[in-house]
Amino acid sequence: MSLPDLLALGRDHYLPVYRQRELVLERGQGARLWDSEGREYIDFSAGIAVCSLGHADPDLVAALVEQAGRLWHTSNVFHSEPPLRLAQELVQASRFAERVFFCNSGAEANEAAIKLVRKWAAAQGREPARRTIVTFRGSFHGRTLAAVTATAQPKYQAGYEPLPGGFRYVDFNDVAALEAAMAGGDVAAVMLEPVQGEGGVLPAAPGFLKAVRALCDRHGVLLVLDEIQSGMGRTGALFAHWHDGVVPDIVTLAKALGGGFPIGAMLVGPQAADAMQFGDHGTTFGGNPLAAAVARVALRKIASPAVVDNVSRQAAALRDGLSAIDARHGLFQEVRGRGLMLGAVLRPEHAGRAAEILDRAAAQGLLLLQAGPDVLRFVPALTITGADVAEGLERLEAALR
Ligand SMILES: *Cc1c(COP(=O)(O)O)cnc(C)c1O
Repeated sequence: MSLPDLLALGRDHYLPVYRQRELVLERGQGARLWDSEGREYIDFSAGIAVCSLGHADPDLVAALVEQAGRLWHTSNVFHSEPPLRLAQELVQASRFAERVFFCNSGAEANEAAIKLVRKWAAAQGREPARRTIVTFRGSFHGRTLAAVTATAQPKYQAGYEPLPGGFRYVDFNDVAALEAAMAGGDVAAVMLEPVQGEGGVLPAAPGFLKAVRALCDRHGVLLVLDEIQSGMGRTGALFAHWHDGVVPDIVTLAKALGGGFPIGAMLVGPQAADAMQFGDHGTTFGGNPLAAAVARVALRKIASPAVVDNVSRQAAALRDGLSAIDARHGLFQEVRGRGLMLGAVLRPEHAGRAAEILDRAAAQGLLLLQAGPDVLRFVPALTITGADVAEGLERLEAALR
């Protein structure tokens, strides 16, 4: 089918909630992609920080194909081996968790965390009015009704009222404001991203997570970290919170967990590991053998020293390249983030132009993301080569020029 015909199918039949670029991707290899017209792209997006081992990683393909010929689905009424093994491996890798709940997406992982916080609080005899969850302005926690209510950004919530109750919003990186928000004793959990992704690639300030942990301890409440985007090696450590030296009570994962195959997980530490019991929560597809078989391989490879080393090497190359581009063209106010989760903030005179730059980058053979209207977001495969980073930066400069 021709490109215009394919694009028309989407225009005529999809619920128009996305604004896809006018191209149809057909094939990928590593950090390169090809569209239906045979044009080649360097991929600085990896889905949205999902394909962390690049496209068509041979070990992931082998795991998927092997499991596909064996067993796809059992429901959670019966066991299969891949999720059993993955649960143990994730618990061990996490250094804090005792138990795991598997689901299919980030929103579902956060939904599970929100429900678990409430069960935990209920078991302590806290009445519903004292089960408030504090989240932060600029956050993104997903699109289900509870997750979008946790997401403290009006643009995601407008028109979906009535929203569920029990959430309170505080400015990110503002310890005093958090302290004030918790002073009434009605808070059951604080939930945040160690690096805000959709909100503009904004890392927690040095010491912020430690201060949040201390406040949670003082009030006896749970610390929930949404590592759906920042986790799985993205920032140069398996979990972003390792940089900050804090121990969370709950961590949610999705995006890169399956290396591109859909899977989400909620990891729960000793404080709350027994809060949910038989019948309290569930999912049909969560933890299915196909997803778990792929995620086991993804976890092993992402945690390997070779990948971790490559993240710091390519992150430095990307930052240097962006600084050099900025020195020549004066476009960025700041390059921020951690590891291979970087955001280039456009200067005020170029504010609002991120989408236009993405279009121009695609035309030059570079796939890029934005994080809001003013931030270019760089989240390539953790395995991207130096040559691909260098060529991607050349294409970016051509687009910006
Ligand atoms: C993407 C994302 C989510 C939502 O994940 P979905 O799989 O799209 O439901 C939640 N939190 C963060 C931090 C994310 O980046």
